[in-house]
Amino acid sequence: MANKHRGSCLCGSVKYELLGEFQSFFLCHCTRCQKSTGSAHGANLFAKAGTLTWLNGESDVRTYKHPNSFHAKSFCSKCGSAIPTFAESINSVMVPAGSLDSPVPIPPTAKIFVGSSAQWSMKLCDVPSYERLPEQAKS
Ligand SMILES: [Zn+2]
Ligand SMILES: [Zn+2]
Repeated sequence: MANKHRGSCLCGSVKYELLGEFQSFFLCHCTRCQKSTGSAHGANLFAKAGTLTWLNGESDVRTYKHPNSFHAKSFCSKCGSAIPTFAESINSVMVPAGSLDSPVPIPPTAKIFVGSSAQWSMKLCDVPSYERLPEQAKS
């Protein structure tokens, strides 16, 4: 079924199923997402009126709501992985792309808050790429 999606956290304690369709997929470069992910940007899909069901590990789910903002993040209390959050303000389930085990069905819609981008993440096309861990990283 095209509108059925599944995912899990890194340690496997939390598993979920989402019924619904994704309307958008945003790569958010805001400073909150940088802190929250420890990386250049968040990567979240949004499913309006989607139905989220925890198949496993619901008691391990924690949600952080940032004061005075709509920024929220759910995560596994055992491994810290980002997992879906219901965003009340927009009546949508927000799904971190990396948490999905089923295929990510749509390409990114847009990069947002690029004015806040980390300086180091501006020109990643020019960075050398390797299939695996290169020798220089092992020494
Ligand atoms: Zn986990
Ligand atoms: Zn953000």
